[in-house]
Amino acid sequence: MSNSEAEKSNGAQSAPEGKFPQAPRPVLPGATIGILGSGQLGRMSAMAAKSMGYRVVIHDEVKDGPASSCADLTIVAPFDDREALGRFALNVDVVTVEFENIPVGALEYLESRVPVRPSSSVIGICQDRVLEKEFLRSNGFPVAPFRAITSAAELAEGLAEIAAPSILKTAALGYDGKGQISLTSGDDAEVVWAMLGSPRAVLEQRVSFASEASVICARSVSGESSCFPVQANIHRNGILDVTVAPAPIDDAVAARAMEVASAITEKLGAIGLITVEFFVLADGSLVVNELAPRPHNSGHHTLETAMTSQFAQHIRAVCGLPLGPVELRSPGVMVNLLGDLWAGGEPDWEILLREPGLFLHLYGKNGAKSGRKMGHMTLLGEGNGVSERAMALRDQVVRGGPFHKN
Ligand code: AMP
Repeated sequence: MSNSEAEKSNGAQSAPEGKFPQAPRPVLPGATIGILGSGQLGRMSAMAAKSMGYRVVIHDEVKDGPASSCADLTIVAPFDDREALGRFALNVDVVTVEFENIPVGALEYLESRVPVRPSSSVIGICQDRVLEKEFLRSNGFPVAPFRAITSAAELAEGLAEIAAPSILKTAALGYDGKGQISLTSGDDAEVVWAMLGSPRAVLEQRVSFASEASVICARSVSGESSCFPVQANIHRNGILDVTVAPAPIDDAVAARAMEVASAITEKLGAIGLITVEFFVLADGSLVVNELAPRPHNSGHHTLETAMTSQFAQHIRAVCGLPLGPVELRSPGVMVNLLGDLWAGGEPDWEILLREPGLFLHLYGKNGAKSGRKMGHMTLLGEGNGVSERAMALRDQVVRGGPFHKN
C-alpha cells in the first residue's frame, strides 16, 4: 500500500468533519507531491522535490507557468472544477501551495481526499488581510494600528480613528503593493473607497520604519520547527528589490524576530513554511507586516547561501521528513530581475555569468513586462560593497543601458 493509500484509508475512518488528520508516516521519495500554482516558487519547489526523488504534479488555472516544465504532469483547470481537483487528488500523495490565493473551498475539497499542507485554515488566514491581522492582534503579536473596512462610511470612521498617513489595502488578492492606496489627512472616504473597488479592505497606519526584514520558518508534521536567519529586504515600488542575508541588524533584534516568527508559526500550527515580514523601527522594536504560507522571494538566496534551501525545507516539511540545517554557508545578496531589464531586448547575461560567486536564476517566462519577476541573482559575500556590486551588475545587463559596453 502506498503512503497515500494508507493515509486515505486511515483518514476515512477517523477524519473529523471530513478533514484529513495529520499523517503520522512520512511521504517518502518516490511518492508524488502536488503543487497548487505554477509560478516561479512552484518551479523552484518542484526542482527541489525532483532532486530528492519525488514526482511532481502541478495544478493551476493557467497553462505553461514556469513550474510546468519542471513537473511530471500539469493539470490546467479552474480551481472550482471539482472533477479536475478530484483527478489531481488521485494523482498525488500530499498537496502544497506555491501561492496563497487558492479558494478555501478547493483546499477543503482536496483536504477530504489527501493531506493538504499547510491546511486550508492556515492558508485561509494568510490569504485574507483582515483575518491575518485579526489573528496576529488577537494573539498578541505586534501589528500596526488597523481597522477592517467594508464601506465608505466605515472608511470615514477609520480615517478619524487611525492617524494619517495610512494605507488602504484590499483584503484579498493584493500582492507586490497591488490593491493598495496611500492616504494622507484630508482624503475623501467616498472617493478613495470607490477607487479601491473592493468589498473588503484593511486601513492601516503607515509605519515609519528604519528597515524591513523577514524570517522564514519551517514546521514539519511532527511539530519540529526551525527558522532561517533573519534577512533584510529593500522594496522598490512595493516590489521586493534586494535581500541581504544575514540582515545587518542588532543581534538582539534578530533574535526577537526569530522568536516572533517561530511563535506565529506555532500558533498557526502550520505544516510547511511560514514567512513573516517585519518592519524594524528605529528603536529596534518590530511590527509584523504580513505572512506568507509558502516559500518567499526573500528566501531565494538560500539556494546558495544556506545549508538547506527554503525549497528543499518546504518539501521536507510537507512530506514529514526531518528538517534540514538552516545555518548560512555564506552571506549573500539577492537582487530581483524584473521585466524592465528587457527594455533593450534580451539582457546581456554574460556580464553576470563572468562574475565569480554570482548565481543567475531565470524562470523561463515568456513576455517580459515592467514589474514582472523574470528571475533573480545571488552574489555571495558580505557588506555594502556586495549589494552595490550586485545592483551595478544588474544595471549593466540592459542592452543599450547606461553602463553597457557595446
Ligand atoms: P505589502 O504588500 O503589504 O507587503 O506591502 C508592500 C510594501 O509596501 C511593504 O514591504 C512596505 O515597503 C510597504 N508598506 C506596506 N504597508 C506599510 C505600512 N503600514 N507602513 C509602511 N510601509 C508599508
